Amino acid sequence: MNKETKNKKETRLTPETIRARLQAKYPHGVDLVYINYDDRIEDTGTIEEVITTGYAESFFEAHFEWVAEAQWQSIECVTDETFTTEECEEIADNDALRDAINDWCYEHDRGTPLEDLAKNTGDVWLFYDLGMGISEADCGPEAYKSTARAIAKRLHLSWAKHRGDLIELVNNSYGGRLVVLWNDKLSRFLGEITDKHITFNDPFLCIMDRDQGSGYDVQIEGRLVVEFDRRLLHSDDGAAGYSYAREVCGLIPGPYQINQGWTDKPGRWPVRLSPDTEEIVLAQSGYKKQEARYDAEYKAGGCTFGDDNFRRHQETEYRNEYPCGTHCKRCGQFWID
Ligand SMILES: [Zn+2]
Repeated sequence: MNKETKNKKETRLTPETIRARLQAKYPHGVDLVYINYDDRIEDTGTIEEVITTGYAESFFEAHFEWVAEAQWQSIECVTDETFTTEECEEIADNDALRDAINDWCYEHDRGTPLEDLAKNTGDVWLFYDLGMGISEADCGPEAYKSTARAIAKRLHLSWAKHRGDLIELVNNSYGGRLVVLWNDKLSRFLGEITDKHITFNDPFLCIMDRDQGSGYDVQIEGRLVVEFDRRLLHSDDGAAGYSYAREVCGLIPGPYQINQGWTDKPGRWPVRLSPDTEEIVLAQSGYKKQEARYDAEYKAGGCTFGDDNFRRHQETEYRNEYPCGTHCKRCGQFWID
């Protein structure tokens, strides 16, 4: 090729021809942020964010550089695959042509990084707060039966049918929040959920105390339909406190993969949201903030008196003399046996 024809060919590239060439080469668009099959969301805070919001804004903020780098590399690759070496040199020297490539690629990005990450992440533990707090005294010998009855009433369950299960549930717990616990694919919780009711078939009812790290669950037969407020839905790993399924019980996911859905046609008698929903949400977010402060203190090498979580203390030791229990030498926190 002599110099003249080369120059002629170079001058043919314009933003318009760039777009036409890219369109012809990638009729279905491009995938700018490629997620490897083994990339997954490890951070439990991000999982909680996806469960409660449907998105992972803070994840992409935190990984902004990585995302930008991936996009840049993909665009380089698209350019190399679409244009000849001479054309690539011309593009490298011409801002208008480069902008045309960048703009086209961003406009036609069909990548779904969050969906891909969520798919790779797989199953997660979830709970939905049923709007009922139960104290330790409610589970005691005097009160457990009336507490079990109150749960039946709140959830519109037949006392005759579920009496045994509900008494077992209350009898074996030390108080906490009444929730449905289950295991499900993280990818089901991406984006908005507009249905007004959440449904569970043969759900596991659980009373969990995330602060003390205790709880109990039973499976009840039948369908439960509850008014849905996403602020009451949480990741068991990512919400504040001990995770019930993992840390407290070490549960196997299989049996807990119940059939859960949403509906706008709840039928005759759905379980209403508790009138205290705003307070419940507020308490949970306040709890989360306090937990975040405890976490930060622990990561900075300290610990906090008043923090019940054993994991977040620096110098715990067991004391045999009365009162027996575990003691943190650093902050004075004490756990009686
Ligand atoms: Zn301590």
